[in-house]
This record gives sequence, C-alpha cells and structure tokens, in this order.
Amino acid sequence: AEWTPDKGWHDARVTEYGPISMDPATAVLHYAQEIFEGMKAYRHDDGSVWTFRPEQNAQRMIRSARRLALPELPVHDFVAAVDALVREDEQWVPDAAGEKSLYLRPFMFASEKFLGVRPAKHVTFMVIASPAGAYFAKGLKPVSIWLSEHYSRAGVGGTGAAKTGGNYASSLLAQQEALEHGCDQVAFLDTVDRKWVEELGGMNLYFVHDDGTVVTPELSGTILEGITRSSILELCRRLGAKVEERRISIDEWRDGVASGRITEVFACGTAAVVTPVGTLRWNGGEVGRGEETGPMTQQIRQALVDIQYGRAEDTFGWMHRVV
Ligand code: PMP
Repeated sequence: AEWTPDKGWHDARVTEYGPISMDPATAVLHYAQEIFEGMKAYRHDDGSVWTFRPEQNAQRMIRSARRLALPELPVHDFVAAVDALVREDEQWVPDAAGEKSLYLRPFMFASEKFLGVRPAKHVTFMVIASPAGAYFAKGLKPVSIWLSEHYSRAGVGGTGAAKTGGNYASSLLAQQEALEHGCDQVAFLDTVDRKWVEELGGMNLYFVHDDGTVVTPELSGTILEGITRSSILELCRRLGAKVEERRISIDEWRDGVASGRITEVFACGTAAVVTPVGTLRWNGGEVGRGEETGPMTQQIRQALVDIQYGRAEDTFGWMHRVV
C-alpha cells in the first residue's frame, strides 16, 4: 500500500513476489527512514492457520512510525494486510521439529525521491512472507553470547525502542565481532553507565534466580519491546513464578552465574522463541554451564510453543485465526 498526505493509505493489493525498482534518490536509501516488524503464522495439525498477537506487532509498528516520523498504519489495516498475504501463501515447509510456520516481515519505508533531510511525503508499506527456517543452525542447543564492550546498539534519546533498520545497522559490526569470537549472538550494555544489560542483537534476555524469581531487564527506551518478552512475563505470572522487570548489571549476570545465584539464562524472540544461553564471553573471560537447558527455560518454551501450534488451550486469547 502507498501513503501520501492527500490520499492517506491507498492502493492496497497482494501481488506476486518480485523485485521493486527505485529511483537512486529514494529517501530511504539515504536517510534510513524505515521501520519493520517480524512475526510468524503457525499451521495447526487441523490445517487452520493462526498468527500470534498480531495487534501487538501493529501497535509496535505505530510506535516505531511515530519515532521515525512515518505515517501510522491503523491496527486493523495492518492485521488485514498480513492476513491477506498469509491466505495466499502455501509455502508450509516443515522445520527441523516438523512444525510448519511462515515468517512474516511487514515493513514501511520512505519512497519519495528527494535529497534533503525531512520526513518523506510518499511512503510505502509492504509485507513479505518466507518459509521460517531454524533461527540457529545448531537447533535448540544453548547459544553463546559475546559481550560487546565497545559498541552500543542504541543510545538514550535515539531510536532503540523502535524497530528500525538503523538500530540493526549499528549492531552489525558488534554481531560480526561476536561471530569472530566463536559466539552466536552479541549482548549490548546501556550507553550511560555501560554496565546495565540491555538485550541481544535480535532477542530479549531473561534470568532465572535460585529462589525461582524470573528477571528481565526493564524497558529503558533503548531496548526493543519484544512481544515474546511481554508474553513470557504474563506466562510466568500465570505459572505462579515471581517475575521482576528491573535493571540487571553485567556484574550481576557474571557473578550470579558463577556463584549459582542465577540458575538459568535464556533469550527470547519471535524467530527463536525461547533459547537457552549457555555461556557469556568477553575479552578475557567467560562464565556459564555450557550445554544444559534449564527446567524453567524448557517449561516456558514448551508453554509458548504449545499455544502457538494449538496444542494447548489459548487461555490468554493470543492467537488470531487467519484460515
Ligand atoms: N530485540 C531485538 C533487537 C530484536 O530484533 C527482536 C526481534 N524482533 C527482539 C528483541 C524480540 O522481539 P519479538 O519477541 O517481538 O520478536
């Protein structure tokens, strides 16, 4: 669909997947006025197809749009666009676990051609779908994390809480550094004190303490408001676990794992759902128990996946039926 100030959103349609052409002066190519979402459709055993809390993605995209001076796409139109594409799609390729899901990527960008720093007056919204492969090649094995001591993902007053390409552009070098150190993902600290744990390159973090308390870094304005993160908060409360959203220092992570006060660390996001964190590495050291998946991590992952694939009752009303 297209947006212009005079017409608003218009020209919504489903078309064949294929290249799009752009003028070299298209604004997004120069000033990165762009936002996106990541979500999945799940095919249940009875053939029905569902998305998970799509209105949450729609609302997050509205918040991202406000930050990037882009027009808001109403929740209803967002959900209708995703539904229309999912209905057309037949690429249900089973993943390693035999489960069928489709990755969906709604995105919006400045499509006006001009060279100048101001919000664009022509904006395009699209959704693409692709078979959802395994997020980590290793499957459900615990991931290793590299602590980025030099780079930040987002700063105070910046665009950290928005899902915009620029945040990912600034994280790429740090992610490459993580890979060079043999780690799967990078962990970022806050930019003010350089000691508070924020999130990973593409996932939020959770820490399980030895008294059963489940802790996740509080929303600081510089971390992405993950939909999996917020769902796990609700799930933990339902499971009767004590949950806390608060600041966690990198020392609390390191010392907590070393002393056994922190018994499990896991990362969460749409693509990987819930993934155990095996080790944390930094320049000169590492902590972690390596290869085991903790019982709380396992329980939360199972509860979430069972709701998504229709094997457990959706008591939260999270699932949205498409087909
Ligand atoms: N943090 C970052 C930086 C991400 O890219 C993602 C993936 N969208 C997440 C967290 C997890 O968010 P969600 O649970 O909505 O997928």
